[in-house]
Amino acid sequence: MSEAALFPRIALIGFGLIGGSIARGAKAQGLAGEIVATARSSATRARVRELGIADRVVETNAEAVKDADLVILSIPVGACGPVAEEIAPHLKRGAIVSDVGSVKSAVVRDMAPYLPDNVHFVPAHPVAGTENSGPDSGFAELFANRWCILTPPAGADEAAVEKLAAFWRALGANVETMTPEHHDLVLAVTSHLPHLIAYTIVSTAEELEGVTRSEVLKFSAGGFRDFTRIAASDPTMWRDVFLNNKDAVLEMLGEFQEDLSKLTRAIRRGDGETLFDHFTRTRAIRRGIVDIGQDEAAADFGRRPAPLNKALSN
Ligand code: NAP
Repeated sequence: MSEAALFPRIALIGFGLIGGSIARGAKAQGLAGEIVATARSSATRARVRELGIADRVVETNAEAVKDADLVILSIPVGACGPVAEEIAPHLKRGAIVSDVGSVKSAVVRDMAPYLPDNVHFVPAHPVAGTENSGPDSGFAELFANRWCILTPPAGADEAAVEKLAAFWRALGANVETMTPEHHDLVLAVTSHLPHLIAYTIVSTAEELEGVTRSEVLKFSAGGFRDFTRIAASDPTMWRDVFLNNKDAVLEMLGEFQEDLSKLTRAIRRGDGETLFDHFTRTRAIRRGIVDIGQDEAAADFGRRPAPLNKALSN
């Protein structure tokens, strides 16, 4: 075990974008004596073996958690309860059990009843991702300078919470702690609602009459293509997010619909002042995100323009 190792053995259940990124980051930083991984399908397990990132790939969740000091579930939110039930009898006394789910109250509700008193349950959500999924999509730097939110239950063992926080900090993340309910409200507006809007607008464009599908694709650089990146996110993951954060999403959706009505009215009435003031405020939010280092200032997300000579030859 290297000097940087925080845990003699880490078990990763689920090996997609997030599980794969944790494995790569933990390996790169020497955070585990041994990384044991498993995934639901034999195809993913075979791919993880080929990639050689985990020290061992095992067939079952029960086998994976055996003697593990840290267990992380990186699977869809809706699958966390059944997997907690399955691993509970096999957990090592004193182990830290965590997850990475994008919703926290439902994960706590579904997992906590199964976990024995002699383990430390510390749910987590790394607020970092891409639209890609699967074992090949992960990368070690995914969490660098991103936030990881921990939602430990009241009375959680402080040393265990700090140890998990240290693990996430070693992966490059900044760590914040809050209640699951507050997490779900914040993420409803910063992540879940934007995804719902993107999913909506992309399908609206697809079903339009009077504008052809090829025109939508051809002229997508007008703004549409930035929504398509978000709307390409994993359907299983996002179905589970909306099923499991229903109340907070509906609350934010209500706020959004009110604002949309205000802008609709301003457009209908030709109220340029309202539109200008609104767009000035939103521009300041974008600048604020750049100022705190959560995005680059590069125009158009840093996309490189096509070389001019190639464009001219077309
Ligand atoms: P992913 O790339 O699609 O990988 C999902 C993994 O979960 C795969 O290994 C898959 O196994 C396994 N899995 C799927 N359904 C399962 C089930 N019913 N039971 C057991 N295992 C199952 O997904 P991901 O993006 O890593 O997301 C994983 C978790 O991270 C989700 O809870 C999500 O909310 C959270 N999260 C995602 C992002 C993001 O941007 N993607 C960001 C932060 C947090 P097979 O490959 O064998 O099918």
